[in-house]
Amino acid sequence: MQTLKKITDRFWYQTPVSETDRPILGAVIGDKMTLMIDAGNSEAHASYFLSELEKHHIPAPSMAVLTHWHWDHIFGLPALDMLSIASSLTKTEMERLKPFQWTDEALDERVRSGVEIEFCASAIKKEFGSDRDIKIKLPDITFEKRLEIDLGGVTCQLQHVGGDHSADSVVVYIKEEKILFLGDAIYANLYSSKWNFTSGRMLKLLDSIEKFDADTYILSHWKALSRAEYMQEAELLRKAAQLTMQLNGEKAEIKKAYRAYKNRELNENELEVIEYFVNGYDLEQKKEL
Ligand SMILES: [Zn+2]
Repeated sequence: MQTLKKITDRFWYQTPVSETDRPILGAVIGDKMTLMIDAGNSEAHASYFLSELEKHHIPAPSMAVLTHWHWDHIFGLPALDMLSIASSLTKTEMERLKPFQWTDEALDERVRSGVEIEFCASAIKKEFGSDRDIKIKLPDITFEKRLEIDLGGVTCQLQHVGGDHSADSVVVYIKEEKILFLGDAIYANLYSSKWNFTSGRMLKLLDSIEKFDADTYILSHWKALSRAEYMQEAELLRKAAQLTMQLNGEKAEIKKAYRAYKNRELNENELEVIEYFVNGYDLEQKKEL
C-alpha cells in the first residue's frame, strides 16, 4: 500500500511499490511553488501521487525533476502538465527510448538482444497489464552539472553525480531541510550480464555525496534513511570498493578481510555488495564495462 509521508513541512514523499517497481516520488513545497521529484513509472503512478498531494492540501507541483532515465522514473511524465527538468544526459537517453514498442513481443525481443533486462520488462508488464499506452515525453529544461531552484523559502540543488547504476544520475539536495534525494544513484548497475559495482566509480560517487550536509537520505526503492543509516551503507560500499581494488577482485579474500574488519560474520547485504563489486571487477578485466 502506497502512503504519503511527511518528513518536514517542506518535504513529503510517497512510498515505493516493489512488485511493480514504483519508486518513491517526492514533493518539495516552497512558498512560491512545489517541485515534484521523479515522474513515476506510469501515468497512473504520477496521477495517484498528485491526487494524494491534493488530499493533503499540498499545492500542486508546477515543475518536475527527473533523477535518471530509467523507465520507472519517467513513464509518468506525459500525465504531468508542468515543466520538466533533467540533466542533458538523461534527455539523450530518453530520446533513445522514443522509437521503442512496448508490447510483450517487443520487450522480450529487447531482453533477448540485451537492450532491455528481464527485471524491468517483467515489472513493466505488471504495472501496465495489457493496456500499454506508453509514451516518452522529453524534459523541457536540461542542465549539465548543477542547477539551483529557489522555490521560495526552500532551495533545491540538482547535481549530476553519475555512478554505476546510471551515468546520468542526478541527486536533489533540499538545502534548508538537509534532505538529500539520492534516487537510485547508489544502487548497482543492472543493465549488464551481471549486476555490478565498480570501485572507481563508487568511490567517486560517495565522495560527491559526502559534500552535502544531510540528515535524511532518500533511496528511491527503499525509504528515507537517517544519517546514521546512510553512513552505515556508505561505509560498507566504500570498504568493499577499497578491498576489491586492494585484493584484485578475489572474492574469498575480500570476504575474509571484511570479516576481520568487522570482527564478525557477514550479513546478506554485505555478501551481496561484495558479490556485485567482484562482478564489476571481472567485467572490467574482460573490458565489458
Ligand atoms: Zn534506476
